[in-house]
Amino acid sequence: MAKTFKGGLHIDDHKSITASIPISFAEGSDIHVFPLQQHIGAPIEPVVKVGDSVKVGDLIADNPEAFMCVPLHSSVSGVVKAIEPRVHTSGAKVTSIIIENDKLYEKSENLLPKNPDNMTSQEIIKVIRDAGIIGMGGAGFPTHVKLSPSADKKITHVIVNGAECEPYLTSDHRRLLEIPETVIDGLQIVMKALNLKEGYIGIELNKKDAIEVIKKHAPENIKIVSLKTKYPQGAEKQLIYAICGKQVPSGGLPADAGVIVLNVDTVTQISKTFRTGMPLIERIVTMSGDCFNEPKNLLVRMGTSFNDLINICGGFSKQPQKLISGGPMMGIAQYTTDVHVIKTTSAILALSDTGDTFENGSVCIRCGKCVEKCPMKLMPLYLNKFARKEDFESAVKYNILDCIECGICSYLCPGLQSPLVNIRLAKQKIIEHRRKNQK
Ligand code: SF4
Ligand code: SF4
Repeated sequence: MAKTFKGGLHIDDHKSITASIPISFAEGSDIHVFPLQQHIGAPIEPVVKVGDSVKVGDLIADNPEAFMCVPLHSSVSGVVKAIEPRVHTSGAKVTSIIIENDKLYEKSENLLPKNPDNMTSQEIIKVIRDAGIIGMGGAGFPTHVKLSPSADKKITHVIVNGAECEPYLTSDHRRLLEIPETVIDGLQIVMKALNLKEGYIGIELNKKDAIEVIKKHAPENIKIVSLKTKYPQGAEKQLIYAICGKQVPSGGLPADAGVIVLNVDTVTQISKTFRTGMPLIERIVTMSGDCFNEPKNLLVRMGTSFNDLINICGGFSKQPQKLISGGPMMGIAQYTTDVHVIKTTSAILALSDTGDTFENGSVCIRCGKCVEKCPMKLMPLYLNKFARKEDFESAVKYNILDCIECGICSYLCPGLQSPLVNIRLAKQKIIEHRRKNQK
């Protein structure tokens, strides 16, 4: 029987637009832009300067002193033309390394395959760190940090998250169908690093073909778990409950429940790095929505321009009202197409119907729908109120930091409130304030 969690929502997944379209390779742009902000954690600094020549896989930015941090590598060969602020998919201007692509794609001489069988856990985790690997589902949490829990936390389960519960997204689905052996290989490398004999891959039932394919490839010690199709089935805490029956404590991380969860793209990259030596320089981007002439699943080099990817999809058949980087529930609306693919860009959606529920002056009618469906059992209506009033003390008392930003409360609010927008902002301010106090 398919496993699941309590709460959540059935929503139209719109996945049929790209689910059957094989992954194709996107040509690089003339100019690649690499914002220095691509992961959660300490900032990184350029290790190249204007005028330097670089090759594919060369290190271009790092902060070797910081643990909560990953390096950045060039996805093209060419010359560094500038280091300057550019618009990031978050909407902010962020210092970025600009590289003119010579289209030769010469590979760095420093890239060598590594055999994890001859390595210790620490050595495996260091290779993952040096390859710049992060959680590619959207969070951007450094993978080597996830794989290094404190000594008091005993890890008993590792799960590959193949739920891909956000509407429209199909990149994990295609990976599971097209290169199942790479997903399994990446998981086995992680199992070795964590000293675990068993691993799990959780996949929603709306990807039955992927479940069949991966079952054929998986050895006995890798269990394939069918998950009910429900949003947000792929959120870490919900996935852990569904597969292991464990609860992550309030304010805690999956490791507090003895579990590590990794995205399909992340384990795929781990396998690639060990087998080829190549760091994280590319990812799959689902190009979907009702406005592209030719929706696609594209394998894209980091730093490629959104404009070029839109052209590869034949442009727009109708004018989009909204362009989103990521999924419609958790992604970020873009005000310009002059932005570039980063490590967490899972999709570019072009939608003619915005589906927006936010209106100035809208009121909470206390229907309770957000409370009933919140997968974290929070009270979004109160969190929304406290966030709007900047009453952060009350917001923290009502566990605002446990919000996983799934967007369900905004999606179904009949009162035209947009709790997620206010909650997300309040969380950022609270975390910022705590960081400053710690310093
Ligand atoms: S769903 Fe909207 S209107 Fe209903 S209680 Fe929540 S915030 Fe209020
Ligand atoms: S409060 Fe957070 S976790 Fe709960 S429904 Fe809203 S966005 Fe999701």
